[in-house]
Amino acid sequence: ALTAGIVGLPNVGKSTLFNAITKSQVEAANYPFATIDPNVGVVEVPDSRLEKLTEIYVPKKTIHTTFEFTDIAGIVKGASKGEGLGNKFLANIREVDAIIHVVRSFDDGNITHVSGKVDPADDIETINLELILADLETVSKRYEKAAKMAKSKDHDAVVEATALKKVKDVLEAGKSARTVEFTEEEQPFIDRMFLLTAKPILYVANVDEDSASTGNDYVEVIREIASQENAEVVIVSAQIEEELASLDDEDRAMFMEDLGMEESGLDRLIQKAYTLLGLETYFTAGEQEVRAWTFKKGMKAPQAAGVIHSDFERGFIRAETLSYEDLLTYGSEKAAKEAGRYRSEGKDYIVQDGDIMLFRFNV
Ligand code: GDP
Repeated sequence: ALTAGIVGLPNVGKSTLFNAITKSQVEAANYPFATIDPNVGVVEVPDSRLEKLTEIYVPKKTIHTTFEFTDIAGIVKGASKGEGLGNKFLANIREVDAIIHVVRSFDDGNITHVSGKVDPADDIETINLELILADLETVSKRYEKAAKMAKSKDHDAVVEATALKKVKDVLEAGKSARTVEFTEEEQPFIDRMFLLTAKPILYVANVDEDSASTGNDYVEVIREIASQENAEVVIVSAQIEEELASLDDEDRAMFMEDLGMEESGLDRLIQKAYTLLGLETYFTAGEQEVRAWTFKKGMKAPQAAGVIHSDFERGFIRAETLSYEDLLTYGSEKAAKEAGRYRSEGKDYIVQDGDIMLFRFNV
C-alpha cells in the first residue's frame, strides 16, 4: 500500500498528530491486513458516497477503504551529512510515497521552539535544505558517470545527462526537484533515483484551536511557499484532532459544533493525502457488503480488479460497471439497468473514480 510519511522539526506537533491518527485507527476485525508496525497508522478514507450507497443497497456491512500514515521520527538538522540517526531519517523518507510536513503555526510560550521563535518559513527551509543536500549528493554522483558516458553520443546517456544537469542546477539553487519539468524521455531517468525532493508534499499548518477554521498569518506564509513549489497546504489543529479522536461519535459532533468545525482536520488531511498520491476509489456493492477500494488513477479494469484479489486480475473477463452519478440519478441498480446505464467493459477500460464495479473472471 502507498504510504505518506509525517516529518517535521521537534516540538511542532508531529506526535500529537500521529496520536490522533492511531486513535482513529481502523478496527482489525474489518481490516485483517492492517499493519501492526507501531510507526504506521491505518485510517479509513472518509467518503460521503459510501453513506448513499448504504442507503440504496442496505447491506449487512459497509467497509471504507484505508490509507496509511508513517511516523518518521528522527534527527533533521545535519541529516544530509549522514550523521547516525540522520541517515536513518533520510532512508525512512526514501521509502514513503509522499511527504506530510508538519509546520508549527501556533504560539505557545510554554512550548520551546528549537530555533527560538515560531517561523514557518525558516522551519520549512531547514528541512527542505537537508532533503535538497541529500538529493544533490545522489544526483552529482550519477551525473559524473552519465556525463562521461554521454561523450560517446549514446542517445540514452545524452538524455540522462541532460535530465540530471537540469535537476542538479535546480538543487544547487536551493530548490526542490519537484519544481523541474522533464520531458517524457527524461522522466524515467529521474524516477529511478527516488529523489526525496521529487516526492509529492503536503504541508500541515498546525494551528491553535482558535485558528482551526480560519487559519492565521503563519498559514499564509506556508501557502506562499507551497504555491512556489507545487505543494499543498492543509490547516489542522493537532491538539483538537487528538481530542476529537478519543471521543465517541455523538460527543465528537457536539465538540465540533462548539468549535464551529464542519469537518475534522484529520479527515481533510486524509483526503488531501489520498488525492496527492493520485489515488481514486471504486465501489463494490451488494446485499452483503458495500465497500470502497483504492486504485491508482488511470488503472485499467483488470489491474483495478487485482486490488481485490490477484485472481481477479489473472482471470479477468469483463467488468459490469455503473457510475455513482447514474446510480444516484436512477435511484437503484435495476432502474439504471433499465435506462441502459449499466455497461459491460473490457480489459482496456480505464476505471473512473466512483465507478460501481462487478468483476467477471475465470478461476
Ligand atoms: P513533536 O516533537 O513534533 O512530536 O511535537 P509534539 O506533538 O510532542 O508537540 C509538542 C508540544 O506542543 C506538546 O506539548 C503538544 O501538546 C503541543 N502542541 C501540539 N499541537 C499543538 C497545538 O495545536 N496547540 C498548542 N497550544 N500546543 C500544541
